[in-house]
Amino acid sequence: MSNTAQIIVNIPARSLDKPFSYNIPINLPNIQVGSRVLVPFGNRKVEGFVVGLADENPETLKPILDVLDDHPWFDSNMLATANWLSEYYLCSLGEAMRLFIPGQSGIRTQKAYQAPAETDMKRVEALLSCKPEEYRTTLTYIYERGLATLPELTKLTGNMGAIIKFFLQHKLIVHADTVSKRGKANSTIIIKLAVSREVAEQIEQTLPKSKTAQRRLLSALLDTDTQELTAAQLRSLSITLETVKRLAAQGLVTTRSVPVFRNSYAGSHQRTTEVTLTLEQSHALQLITPAIHSGIHRSFLIHGVTGSGKTLVYIKAVAEARCLDRQAIILVPEIALTSQIVARFKAEFGDDVVVMHSKLSVGERHDAWRRLQTGQAGIVIGARSALFAPVSHLGLIIIDEEHEFTYKQEETPRYHAREVALTRARLSGATVILGSATPAVETYYQALQGEHILIPMNNRVDNTPMPPVTVVDMRQELAQGRRSVISQSLQDMLTETLAKKEQAVILLNRRGYSTFVLCRECGHVLKCRHCDISLVYHAPANVLRCHYCQERHTIPDTCPKCSSRYIRYFGAGTQKVEEALTALFPSARIVRMDQDTTGGKMAHDRILSAFAAGTYDILLGTQMVAKGHDIPNVTAVGIISADTALNLPDFRAAEKTFALLTQAAGRAGRGAKAGQVVMQTYNPEHYAVTAGAAHNYQAFYQEEIVFRRQLDYPPFSNLIKITVQAGDEITVHRNANLLAIELTQSLTKTDSAIIGPFPASVNKIKDVFRVNILIKTQGLSTVTRQLSALGMASRRDLIVDIDPVNVL
Ligand code: ADP
Ligand code: ZN
Ligand code: ZN
Repeated sequence: MSNTAQIIVNIPARSLDKPFSYNIPINLPNIQVGSRVLVPFGNRKVEGFVVGLADENPETLKPILDVLDDHPWFDSNMLATANWLSEYYLCSLGEAMRLFIPGQSGIRTQKAYQAPAETDMKRVEALLSCKPEEYRTTLTYIYERGLATLPELTKLTGNMGAIIKFFLQHKLIVHADTVSKRGKANSTIIIKLAVSREVAEQIEQTLPKSKTAQRRLLSALLDTDTQELTAAQLRSLSITLETVKRLAAQGLVTTRSVPVFRNSYAGSHQRTTEVTLTLEQSHALQLITPAIHSGIHRSFLIHGVTGSGKTLVYIKAVAEARCLDRQAIILVPEIALTSQIVARFKAEFGDDVVVMHSKLSVGERHDAWRRLQTGQAGIVIGARSALFAPVSHLGLIIIDEEHEFTYKQEETPRYHAREVALTRARLSGATVILGSATPAVETYYQALQGEHILIPMNNRVDNTPMPPVTVVDMRQELAQGRRSVISQSLQDMLTETLAKKEQAVILLNRRGYSTFVLCRECGHVLKCRHCDISLVYHAPANVLRCHYCQERHTIPDTCPKCSSRYIRYFGAGTQKVEEALTALFPSARIVRMDQDTTGGKMAHDRILSAFAAGTYDILLGTQMVAKGHDIPNVTAVGIISADTALNLPDFRAAEKTFALLTQAAGRAGRGAKAGQVVMQTYNPEHYAVTAGAAHNYQAFYQEEIVFRRQLDYPPFSNLIKITVQAGDEITVHRNANLLAIELTQSLTKTDSAIIGPFPASVNKIKDVFRVNILIKTQGLSTVTRQLSALGMASRRDLIVDIDPVNVL
């Protein structure tokens, strides 16, 4: 038997990346690889994860104090996934493993203090004599109680910092932190008869009349088939635990404790009536079902238009996995916006479904995960973190709306759920289904390369057509002397919609507005000659700069393409659009939803539900009005400046624009009433706009992939973004320049290009200046190993982001 364990301590510090060795005491034989344990670390007790066992000389090692679970929390697939994560995303193994723990820790630590083993009271008196009275009261309190927690002490005298520090310094007290297991399952007791029925009956007869409660308990136990009662049954019989104890003391009953699980989503289980699958649905399942049964990892991309019935395919696939007693993880971009899919899974699978919601307490999260771990539940639905659920019989992972950027975690570890899902599934022999109406370019490319099996679903279930889209060329509008931000077509559509008492959504794609320079007459945007990326306007210096190569340009007085003088146009904000709408439709009820309003009194979902209830006629806002709602009375969608995002210095600008336009257009006419869409743009011929207007993914993809290949952007390379941070502007630039030089030198043989340094789009956060460097590489694993060897992953002033979704 091994006597030593290698343990990763669960402390969020990058410097603690290596496992430490601890001695396994004889009284804790149950320790295995994957166990969560409690270990001494410095003068603290911390949680640790066992990652290895060995036979060493344990004499010199500190012993493990306790084991947190009956069975190891991590199985071999989870451990392997964590290892992969830490290597791929350059985080520590501890950081990767924390993802698998609800609340990131299995223990709760409270600071506490106690008297040292020996105290010299004379010395104590001497030290206290020259201190204020609080010192004496505090120390007496600790000594009298033997142990006192910091919150207790703080209640005693308020600010404790100085006093505690003094005591610790003079060794009048020592640390004695208390540690409790977190999210321990609630338990209930079961009472069982410990003697034969005959004996119990006899005793019941002979008990004195005064002991009615005891008699009632015995007779209730005798009335059951199993001679068992639960705590809840006891309560309904008004029998107290005191009575149970009396009988237990006489050896007549025994009690045992069993865990109960909090279930905040408990609900009835009502299967939907069987529907006939559409041809496309059954075709999809013909491909997916054998993969699930084979137990060999396969991945699928369902490219299905909105309303093609993807959810039913998901449900049927999950049912297959459950038949084989394998578990399923279903990821959605944002759980709050997807109550529909949750409701359908609940209706189909009842309590077999666990919903991971951000509003769950750590305890509820723990319970949910334990139900999955013990096999009491087989299906988990949640945002990206649900991917780390401790399911030991993983059979299927589904990622709905796989193109959404919320699948990327924007804090360390900066993982992408799609990549982790594919890895975890590969290690577990599980199937992956990716679904989207507008797949990420990378994913679609992989599918065409044969990495995923592509399943097109081109038709809506009820064959309703996509809404027709009118593209308005804003340059024409100007030529006709119309200067309003609302075009004639949009005005006409709104007039018609309001007259019919139907509703309209207006999307102002404002992201990045006013940072680029656009010609209002021809739509030309000034771009860098070297990078094919929009130049960014810098107000203080009144210059244009390429954020990728640093080249500076002055702003021309006239458009280089058409010589127009309307070159300094930077776009409009929601407020301006609201004013224009109010002027045109004074009696319309308009509600605005953007960063300014949603931060305030009316929250996002309250605005949406008021709009859905018909309180308003027009909903106006940024990105967020385009997603996640399905309101039958919305028949008109207007998109102001469809192309603003196209001008961001981001190689994914076209992809983001196309996905947003397709999503927004899809909001119109989802009910029985037909919908229509007006898209206003300065780039009516840009493929993201034309393809978006035609609901044509193929057309978009064919153009986009050519651009990516020409400039070696993903999927033809991997990007790594390194953000350099410093407290002042000079230092941040100096460090970034030094780093760029270092990278250029050390990556010469890796087929990589260094882009930048360039200021981050938000170049100052909380007084910390940020400058980015991008590495574009064909040899990702070599580069990450190099970065790791150069110590970049553990430098506190750097953020290393592998496959960033936000390159700005
Ligand atoms: P998607 O997720 O692809 O946008 P959904 O799965 O939400 O589409 O399906 C759209 C609508 O069609 C839903 O109301 C769903 O209940 C219905 N539906 C799906 N499949 C069928 C079917 N085979 N027969 C009848 N209705 C279906
Ligand atoms: Zn021009
Ligand atoms: Zn450039």
